[in-house]
Amino acid sequence: MDTDLQQYTVAEVTKGFVYNELEGKGLFGLNGDLVIQPEYQRHYIYGDGKKDVAVIDSLLKGYPLGLIYFVDNGVADGPRLEVLDGQQRITSVGRFVTGKFAIVRDGREQTFSSLDPALQKKITDSQLLIYVCSGTETEIKEWFQTINIAGVPLNKQELRNAIYSGPFVTAAKAEFSNSQNALQQKWAHFVKGDPKRQEVLEVALEWVASSKDQSIDGYMAAHRQDSGINELKSYFTTVIDWIDAVFIAPPDKAMRGLDWGALYETYHHKSYKTDEIDANLEELLADPAVKNPKGIYEYLLGGKEDTRLLDVRLFEPSTKKQAYAQQTKKAQAAGVSNCPLCAQGSNANKTRIYKQTEMEADHVAAWSRGGDTSLANCEMLCVPHNRSKGNR
Ligand SMILES: [Zn+2]
Repeated sequence: MDTDLQQYTVAEVTKGFVYNELEGKGLFGLNGDLVIQPEYQRHYIYGDGKKDVAVIDSLLKGYPLGLIYFVDNGVADGPRLEVLDGQQRITSVGRFVTGKFAIVRDGREQTFSSLDPALQKKITDSQLLIYVCSGTETEIKEWFQTINIAGVPLNKQELRNAIYSGPFVTAAKAEFSNSQNALQQKWAHFVKGDPKRQEVLEVALEWVASSKDQSIDGYMAAHRQDSGINELKSYFTTVIDWIDAVFIAPPDKAMRGLDWGALYETYHHKSYKTDEIDANLEELLADPAVKNPKGIYEYLLGGKEDTRLLDVRLFEPSTKKQAYAQQTKKAQAAGVSNCPLCAQGSNANKTRIYKQTEMEADHVAAWSRGGDTSLANCEMLCVPHNRSKGNR
């Protein structure tokens, strides 16, 4: 790969600058020769009235904006250069000189056109230091991963979008990374993450890829040149519709970020009585003994068997101590073991008095059948008996 250090002025780079308000990204510069946001890069995230203003302040103070990297893609007709690193800075400058935001100078808001002409010139004459790189796609993208350690680092999915860029990524981003998509609000009940940081797309890919025992990378590589995203979209929609069909109540925040793809794969063949699911769900969400509300959904899908998913609150040490003392006193008076199950038998432990450390607390009425976690429902059992009762 070759790199060539060049200097361009702000006026040159922002000539013919186009900013797409709807998509939130800068598109072209250098009089049409520069693609500012190739498909593998993220949306413009500097437009917060701080980072974008800081870029303009730097230029007005004569500070350098730092190194910028372009790729020369060698295409003869059409834009020849792409921004590899520097997209956020260039978009900020381009938006300012085209009047998209104002800065405050001497206590007054100023847009580019209202600035003193000398200051306007200072900005447009500023020199940008640009490395223009050329090489194979692979070389350039590997290198891109290396240099992107500065600034806001790309996350895993942003990197994958770079590595597998092509028509599939473009179509997938249009569906899953567009915060204007009206469905995002619905998806946000079940999927955690910022669409602009590709986190919703990542979940959609994870679900469909896992259903085929593939990794996201494997799936993206296989579909890289697809022009459509039918399978990705229909699988994602199927999972979301399934959640909606099984859990009929308005979504609770505990649903957000669960691995719904895996739950769908495991449980979608089962049929559910939705009224019953709904009543159980309401009860469990309100139950203070359930320490892990996120586990409720799989607990219900699995037929209320695995209470470990709920992380049910255990008996307090003081409750166990009281239960032990009461039981032991009664047992000693009756001349039997203080483990009620040992006392029933006719073995060597029939009259054994266990130490508290040799016993564990058990729900008399199983928690899963409505028994609560109080002294009245607490029974101490010897360890072997408690373990043999299993997880109720
Ligand atoms: Zn026992």
